[in-house]
Amino acid sequence: MVALETSKKTVMECESEHFLMAQRQLDEIALEMGLDPELHERLRYPKRALIVTIPIKMDDGTVQTFTGYRVQHDVTLGPAKGGIRFHPEVNLGEVSSLAMLMTWKCSLMNLPYGGAKGGIRCEPWKLSQNELERLTRRYTSEIINLIGPDKDIPAPDMYTNEQTMAWIMDTYSINVGHTVPSVVTGKPVSVGGSLGRFEATGRGVAYCVRRAASYVGLTTKSPTVVVQGFGNVGAIAARLLHESGYTIVAVSDVHGGIYNPEGLDIPRLQAYLSEMGKVSGFPGSKDISNQELLALPCDVLIPAALAGQITVENVHDLKCKIVVEGANGPTSPEADKILHEKGILVVPDILANAGGVTVSYFEWVQGLMHLFWSEQEVNHRLEEIMGRACDQVFEMTAKTGLRPRMSALRIAVGRLAEAKKLRGLYP
Ligand code: GLU
Repeated sequence: MVALETSKKTVMECESEHFLMAQRQLDEIALEMGLDPELHERLRYPKRALIVTIPIKMDDGTVQTFTGYRVQHDVTLGPAKGGIRFHPEVNLGEVSSLAMLMTWKCSLMNLPYGGAKGGIRCEPWKLSQNELERLTRRYTSEIINLIGPDKDIPAPDMYTNEQTMAWIMDTYSINVGHTVPSVVTGKPVSVGGSLGRFEATGRGVAYCVRRAASYVGLTTKSPTVVVQGFGNVGAIAARLLHESGYTIVAVSDVHGGIYNPEGLDIPRLQAYLSEMGKVSGFPGSKDISNQELLALPCDVLIPAALAGQITVENVHDLKCKIVVEGANGPTSPEADKILHEKGILVVPDILANAGGVTVSYFEWVQGLMHLFWSEQEVNHRLEEIMGRACDQVFEMTAKTGLRPRMSALRIAVGRLAEAKKLRGLYP
């Protein structure tokens, strides 16, 4: 009886708002492209999902129990690939929808991977380094049968980083009895990581901004950019765009935003942030709220923070020409349709932030070959792959009139559908 209750709850939890939204997105493109209904039904659910209970000893000697997840949505094109996040809102529905998104992202970028995602429901900012290490290692040992360089390869995501990957790699290696660097990507360079991986997502966002600007024919000499989120993705995209002549007029972090219509000095802002721990109060700028930031007049808006930021509530306030989604899922499906009607170009998450997983792929390839590339080579290959994917999505948009998100999905789902058809059904 207890088991039944639990499994019922699990199914319901999986069908959370997040997950239903991902399914609706698939339903829309399946109808549009006339996808085989049997294949469509299969793709609406994860291939497998594991929920683990993780007891760890806290620094004060007490034991606390956390819940962790690893979900593989599809593995037709290769091993499952996707990040692991530590966040209090992590649940089976969220992780399952993000795993589905990874399937589309890898297929769109033509990487030989399926999609996965994992996470631990916790407040990472309340845990010490030692507690985080014990949590990561115990989680790894609980999901160890699922992961491996040919099976499922985790990477960093929200509130996880290179150190987290080093702990996962070490725990896995000790358990199998030899060092296996390729079980994770996003590792520190000194334990087999790739040059350029740390900056890759932000760099990919910057490439997409430039491609999108030329696609819409932006003629402004120094286009204006607003960046929501000044973490690993937003700050790097802002720096690279600033270096290539764009004017970054506003940025924000969890504490709030800053605005200067004349442009922010990004290197000085980065120095200020390392000293003060937040962007607000930066000399020469005006403090603004996150909602005010989204409504600023600009050429390019980069939401690079949390999901669900642009919704029907605020979409009509936006005054940009292009949205480049650095975060996963920052725009609700309804808002996405409205942006398209308003003639605002949206570069969707599965394209805009795919720089991270693309260089993860490079890291995995280099590790398997035991042959490492220069940073220049990594960046050059990344630009080539991102540029090709942008062109394909924009071409599909121009040809079909679909929203760019739907064009990207059509390419991704189409590629996967063809592979699935050729592989056939076992038995
Ligand atoms: N977590 C990142 C994403 O959402 C990177 C995944 C990876 O490198 O495998 O794309």
